Amino acid sequence: MTARSNSMPARKLPLLTPETEAFWTGGKNGELLIQRCGTCGLYQHPPLPICSACRTETVASAAVSGKGKVKTFTINHQPWMPGLDEPFVFAAVELDEQAELYIFSNILAAPEAVTSGMRVKVSFEHLDDVWLPMFTPDGEAGDEA
Ligand SMILES: [Zn+2]
Repeated sequence: MTARSNSMPARKLPLLTPETEAFWTGGKNGELLIQRCGTCGLYQHPPLPICSACRTETVASAAVSGKGKVKTFTINHQPWMPGLDEPFVFAAVELDEQAELYIFSNILAAPEAVTSGMRVKVSFEHLDDVWLPMFTPDGEAGDEA
């Protein structure tokens, strides 16, 4: 196994900023890092320089369980890369840690297997300097193609 794939065509990777770097690189250690306020405990995503609830600057990255459920989803038929012609699922995943704390990402499952409310867990895809958090079915019988 090589550390990075050299056959991967150009794909738009997220830009790392001081606020977002933890989110995109936490997967290196297998951790989904979400910004949390040290004062009131609120999780917020995407990250911001201050807490959106109490306005303090005591925000820092905290590892979450990486588990949640599909809130809403769409099936995208436009392939991300040549050769991958299966439609993929793009969803809003509500994390277990807090109501309405959403991560927008892919669900790595057959589109017909994805339902609103299904349990999912994070899975990271390493590309260059980022670890893209994606989600796979958790618990219930996954449809292995
Ligand atoms: Zn706060």
